[in-house]
Amino acid sequence: MKKEKRKIRPDQQEKPLVSMRWLYLILFLLLALFWWGTRQSTKETNWSEFNEKMLQQRDVLKVDIVNNEEVWVYIKPASLSKEMYKDIAKGVFGSANAGPHYHFRIGSVEVFTQQLEAAQAGFAPEDKVAVEYSKRDNWWTTILAWIFPLILLVIFWVFVMGRMANTMGGTGSSIYSFGKSKAVLFEKGDISPITFKDVAGYEEAKTEIMEIVAFLKNPQFFTRLGARIPKGILLVGPSGTGKTLMAKAVAGEAGVPFFSLSGSEFVEMFVGVGASRVRDLFDRAMEKTPCIIFIDEIDTIGRVRGKAASYQVNDERESTLNQLLAEMDGFAPNTGVIVMAATNRADILDPALLRPGRFDRHIYLELPNKAEREAIFRVHLQPLTLDVNIDAGFLAAQTPGFSGADIANVCNEAALIAARAKKDKIEMADFYGAVDRIVAGLEKKTKIITPKEKKVISYHEAGHALVGWMLEHVDPLVKVSIIPRGKSLGSAWYLPEEHQILTKSQLFERLCVMLAGRAAESLVFNEVSSGALDDLEKATKQAYVMIAELGMSERMKNLSFYDSTGMHDAMLQKPYSEETARLIDEEVRKLFDTAFDKTTAILKEHRSKLENLAELLLQKEVVEKDELEKILGKRPDVSVAAGEN
Ligand code: ADP
Ligand code: ZN
Repeated sequence: MKKEKRKIRPDQQEKPLVSMRWLYLILFLLLALFWWGTRQSTKETNWSEFNEKMLQQRDVLKVDIVNNEEVWVYIKPASLSKEMYKDIAKGVFGSANAGPHYHFRIGSVEVFTQQLEAAQAGFAPEDKVAVEYSKRDNWWTTILAWIFPLILLVIFWVFVMGRMANTMGGTGSSIYSFGKSKAVLFEKGDISPITFKDVAGYEEAKTEIMEIVAFLKNPQFFTRLGARIPKGILLVGPSGTGKTLMAKAVAGEAGVPFFSLSGSEFVEMFVGVGASRVRDLFDRAMEKTPCIIFIDEIDTIGRVRGKAASYQVNDERESTLNQLLAEMDGFAPNTGVIVMAATNRADILDPALLRPGRFDRHIYLELPNKAEREAIFRVHLQPLTLDVNIDAGFLAAQTPGFSGADIANVCNEAALIAARAKKDKIEMADFYGAVDRIVAGLEKKTKIITPKEKKVISYHEAGHALVGWMLEHVDPLVKVSIIPRGKSLGSAWYLPEEHQILTKSQLFERLCVMLAGRAAESLVFNEVSSGALDDLEKATKQAYVMIAELGMSERMKNLSFYDSTGMHDAMLQKPYSEETARLIDEEVRKLFDTAFDKTTAILKEHRSKLENLAELLLQKEVVEKDELEKILGKRPDVSVAAGEN
């Protein structure tokens, strides 16, 4: 194991911290003592005292002129026994003092040497005092210059450590904790444990994940045979499909701690924070083995490196990713730390992340199908007080394309609506309301619409409904309304069938229906409105997808410029020539014209039905299926094979 010796956590540092303080104190005292000792053994003097009491008595061995400003006086060893030198005869530790014994400051070296010459005028040559010059750093100031910042550093360090220890496990609001990972730790007893029975559907994924649980519960069983347990598991799927839920369920089933955090929490404005957060996260996890680390939205740090457009190089993200890879390589396979990560785009992840020993297990969680939605509804209907006739199967049929999170939302919303209406039980109508809300945003009954506008909206919606009704490949219509919701002014509800693939005719007819609102407006009022903005946006997008990605036009047959890697988007660059771009535009235009003409033709043919439906909408605001049938007639039989458009 490479990471045997890991960084000590601040709370463990509490003990050594105290002894470090003592160490510094002792060091300081020693220094002080030494300084005091040396001060004691050199005495301050002055020129006249030096001259009369020492020099003239022939007691001076030599003088040392230090830094041109101070004279250090050495007394002859033989003279040290004299009464006047008894203070300085011995050193700090009782040994003979080798000197310097006295010191005094001088104004100028020339003056001093002249004075010394003059004072020794009558001396015998052998009595003359030797003069030395030396350059010495004032060791005291030097030491101060060293010690002072050191002491400051120590104080700062002690302070920081204290703060860190205080904020550990707290909110992490202290500025000193920015290098700490913000992972939320769930341990046994923290939350009501989530288990697999809280996760509806996904039977395949569950069986696969069951193996991980078995390992966490009983690692020896696998390692006994030398099996290598996966370190990283990647959960791939659109948001709200229960990736977090699944990871929590694994932790809950295995009864191990669960660290949860989002990829975006690694990368913040402080450079270098990401990497240190990764390190900290793994440090914390190592102490709680076996455990699970769950990183949501791993694509925020795990995008393909280096290939992103060079103007948006993100070193921070890259270093975070590198650290993550290093940590994942660093711990031995069977230490009991399992990293689960969630993303909705596995294709844009850096291949390095997906290599063996890293996130080599992939589990796909798709949007639930009807049966799975039913199961999810069951889970979320469980805690609610329901009216008897609530049918999970019917609700599931009404909510194609909903994710698990959407379904959880619907159930909660239905309960809220019922509570607001002061009901004792949640009724089916509340669920309708909830689904409507989730689908089209909040009902905005307060929005003020003039009668003229209302008429335009009625025709617009009637147009959608009529054209959809007359085309065979369009999903059956359930309800039309002109009650504004969210940003749309009206809406039509279809009962979508589950499609895995869509044929060209289906796509084309959808396009016709999208354009029908505007076509109806233009046919009836000879004027178009901004009410079709949403339709046109969707239609244009779909048309481009049909031409440029699905290869559904004559002149661009079978060519696809779909880019599943998202690379071209990042490079702001098209994978085709200007000429092709023009061709695509032309083909889209042609497709649009054909669809619009067809739509207009249908509207013209059934003009009276359009008027009737619009009038009814104006009157009732909402028209349900049976009334639609009354006005529009029975829907053409879908089972009859479709002709080419
Ligand atoms: P993701 O992490 O994929 O975005 P979450 O795990 O956060 O999705 O799911 C959000 C919520 O949706 C969950 O807390 C749960 O209430 C609900 N949910 C999603 N999938 C399921 C499922 N298969 N069974 C039950 N509830 C689900
Ligand atoms: Zn419309």
